[in-house]
Amino acid sequence: MLQKVNVGRWSLDAYEGIAPAPILEELRELARGLAGARILQVNATPYGGGVSELLRSCVPLLRDLGLAVDWKVMGGSPEFFAATKALHNALQGSPRALTDAERRAYMDCVAENAVTMDDDYDYVIVHDPQPAGLLSAHGRGGARWVWRCHIDTSEPNPQAWSFLRGLLADYDAAVFTMPEFVPPGFPCARVEAIAPAIDPLSPKNINLDVGTAGQILDWIGVDLPGRLVTQVSRFDPWKDPLGVIEAYRIVREEIGELQLALIGSMALDDPEGWGVYREVSEAADHDPLINLFTNLTGVSNVEVNAFQRLSEVVVQKSIREGFGLVVSESLWKRTPVVAGRAGGIPLQMPEGTGGRLVSSTEECAAAMLELLRDRELARELGRSGHEQVREHFLLPRLLRDELRLLASLG
Ligand code: UDP
Repeated sequence: MLQKVNVGRWSLDAYEGIAPAPILEELRELARGLAGARILQVNATPYGGGVSELLRSCVPLLRDLGLAVDWKVMGGSPEFFAATKALHNALQGSPRALTDAERRAYMDCVAENAVTMDDDYDYVIVHDPQPAGLLSAHGRGGARWVWRCHIDTSEPNPQAWSFLRGLLADYDAAVFTMPEFVPPGFPCARVEAIAPAIDPLSPKNINLDVGTAGQILDWIGVDLPGRLVTQVSRFDPWKDPLGVIEAYRIVREEIGELQLALIGSMALDDPEGWGVYREVSEAADHDPLINLFTNLTGVSNVEVNAFQRLSEVVVQKSIREGFGLVVSESLWKRTPVVAGRAGGIPLQMPEGTGGRLVSSTEECAAAMLELLRDRELARELGRSGHEQVREHFLLPRLLRDELRLLASLG
């Protein structure tokens, strides 16, 4: 069943002087026009991964702006989440199609959730493929329905895409991170490209002084002031954690004392996590300078904040990526990033800004070495990355773009 997620209270006023003023102004104006609108946001997990990260920050601010917003998470059996992870992988291009049993598990679970959608809403925003079938199972009622896709669906597995496509036809609008992600033959008339954003005031991104961040990492067991590189991401093959270890080993031949932290959260809707964790752990092979951390061992938002802040370089070696919030999170902390040239990552790091884009393990190692050796360059890239995020990837800009869309749907 759909379950309400509780979030804190927050005020847009706190973003004055942080986010660009014209964006805050337009956001307030748009919100006045939508005052009182009832909005439901639906996704598949209350923690772990980018969507829950976004909703946790967006929902309180939309409420502060006078909108009546609920965030609900769909329930599902292990079979359902295995099916939706297969669907997620297939939509990102994996050749494995969905089995009949997986399609049935998906449709049954969506129908069970749809019958518990009892409130009236003006807008329903459905995030990602997991709950996408809610509209067909529930019917539109009096609401406008928006499908928000956070993954790279530019080259989907044709069978998986034809399954999902049938569930999307009645949506009033769909939102992708980039125009390039819109799959061929997309059925909705209205399609928008809106990039996600980070919350500069969340515990993940709030300013921490170096002393406090250092104490947090000391407590976790990182050897400071030793040299440190980090990747923060779900344990997912698309994030290429094994490639990170390979690249790191090349760098270690030059910088013997360098530590690597691999931080991964286990999301409720990602059953592959533990399998990948085991593979990564085997690849680390008891190397005392490679450390794996998870949300289950207490590495949560503030700890991730400290890692992103005190790493000399943050790596995000994705092969496929929707957006990669972790890139903006690190750049906001003025830490340069070495990242895969994938999906929404280049949006955040245009040539010469924020760090280096790479397409192979060797390039990744070379870029890490370059930034670890040239501290001045690393500092300059961190600075330009911070500015890029301030201008384009802070939460008020995302809320403004979303409210523009809702307002235009009437
Ligand atoms: N994250 C976290 N702890 C972890 C791994 C990830 O808090 O151990 C957060 C990360 O900081 C980011 C989000 O989960 O906010 C991941 O979003 P991203 O867009 O990078 O990737 P996704 O998981 O959505 O594919």
